[in-house]
Amino acid sequence: MRREPNKNKDGLLAKAARTDSAFRRQVLRKLSRARTRLLVCFWTLPVYIIAIWVLLNNGRNIETIMWIYMGLYAIFAVDMASRRCPQCGNQFFVKSILLNLVTKRCVHCQLPMHPEADTRANREP
Ligand SMILES: [Zn+2]
Repeated sequence: MRREPNKNKDGLLAKAARTDSAFRRQVLRKLSRARTRLLVCFWTLPVYIIAIWVLLNNGRNIETIMWIYMGLYAIFAVDMASRRCPQCGNQFFVKSILLNLVTKRCVHCQLPMHPEADTRANREP
C-alpha cells in the first residue's frame, strides 16, 4: 500500500505547535505578572507600617487601611497560588502547601518562567 504524502496534516501540526507555544508564552507572562504583584505588595510593607504608625500617632482609626491591605494580600496570594503551569498542569508556585515566592521556575517540572532569559543564561560559559 502506497502512502500519499500528507502536507496538509504536517502544516496543521506545525500550526498547532506554534499556537501551543504562543499560548504557553501568554500563560507564563500572566504567571510572572501575578508574582510581581505579590512581590510589590511585600515591598510596600515598610510604607504600610509607617502609615499605620503615623495614623496611630494622630489618634486615627487604622481599621480601614488594615482591612484593605490584608485584602489586597489575600487576593494577590490566592491569584498567584491558583496559577497553573502550562507544561505539567500543577500549581506553578505551590508545592504541598507552601507558596514559593522566590522561584522563577515551576516547582514541579522546573519549566522556566522566562524561557528567553533562561536559554541566554545557559549559553554563557
Ligand atoms: Zn510545571
